[in-house]
Amino acid sequence: MVMDIQTSFLDRLFESGLLIDTGVDGLYGRSAQFEDVIAAFERLIDRFGGADGAEVIRFPSGMNRAFFETSGYMKSFPQLAGTVHSFCGNELDHMSLLKCMEVGEDWTKDQEATDIVLTPAACYPLYPTVAKRGPLPESGALFDLQSYCFRHEPSKDPARQQLFRMREYVCMGTAKHVTDFRQSWMSRGVEMMTAVGLEITIDVANDPFFGRAGKMLANNQRDQKLKFELLIPITSSAKPTACMSFNYHQDAFGAKWGLNLEDGSVAHTACVGFGLERIALALLHHHGLNTVAWPESVRKALWG
Ligand code: ATP
Ligand code: ZN
Ligand code: MG
Repeated sequence: MVMDIQTSFLDRLFESGLLIDTGVDGLYGRSAQFEDVIAAFERLIDRFGGADGAEVIRFPSGMNRAFFETSGYMKSFPQLAGTVHSFCGNELDHMSLLKCMEVGEDWTKDQEATDIVLTPAACYPLYPTVAKRGPLPESGALFDLQSYCFRHEPSKDPARQQLFRMREYVCMGTAKHVTDFRQSWMSRGVEMMTAVGLEITIDVANDPFFGRAGKMLANNQRDQKLKFELLIPITSSAKPTACMSFNYHQDAFGAKWGLNLEDGSVAHTACVGFGLERIALALLHHHGLNTVAWPESVRKALWG
């Protein structure tokens, strides 16, 4: 039942040209109109967050494999990771590679890992970068990030893509500083979504930790209210989609990466993420596939 609804929304997105089928579930091209919605929503984010003085950094969608390894991502989410592999052989190896392709055998088995892993969340490359700079000021630090992120979770649900953009604000400082930051973005999130005519709920959540040990991590994350999600119905009203998340890492990332405040204490961190494709899809689902026909108030909030 749910699948039918999902498939039909995806089909309508393909038919309208807003998303472009590549033959792989969760890997889509985007039309000018789709991109225009994302650009407009990012300007709305700028209007809410722009006066906070965040340092803007843009990383590409691949990160240093050594940093990825230190992050512990493979302990928690091995099923979602995407590594970049390349051909590193000689001419003989090349010939056998082409032979494999010719006869339809697996040509990828001899590909070798490179120093690059696809970024799983926009904030991952930030922590080691900031740690290298030395102690953080007592007043903390704030960063504005945006990156395409990869997660190996192929799906017919257009809101679950394998390569999608995440806009993030990341705050580092004392526990009070970063939890206040997270709280203020929860209020802003509600305000922003209301301004663009979307009905939302906010709920505690957990990350999709792998395996049996992961169940305990997920329960702990929920019990301690470390993750909240802002949910909007897209493909199902019974199971609304997380379009923003609000994450408090306590001092876990601070300890892992050696992020210290000037007084020597370990920094606490929090990040707030916007799923840009999901927000665009929520708008398209709610207001229709033709952005020109969206309610005047919504158009005004997005395009002025
Ligand atoms: P979900 O529970 O739906 O899998 P998540 O909890 O894994 O989402 P986060 O890790 O908190 O998501 O990522 C931050 C934001 O990025 C999410 O709130 C969502 O808006 C967006 N996002 C996450 N995964 C995807 C995906 N596969 N496709 C599109 N957007 C995504
Ligand atoms: Zn983050
Ligand atoms: Mg997920």
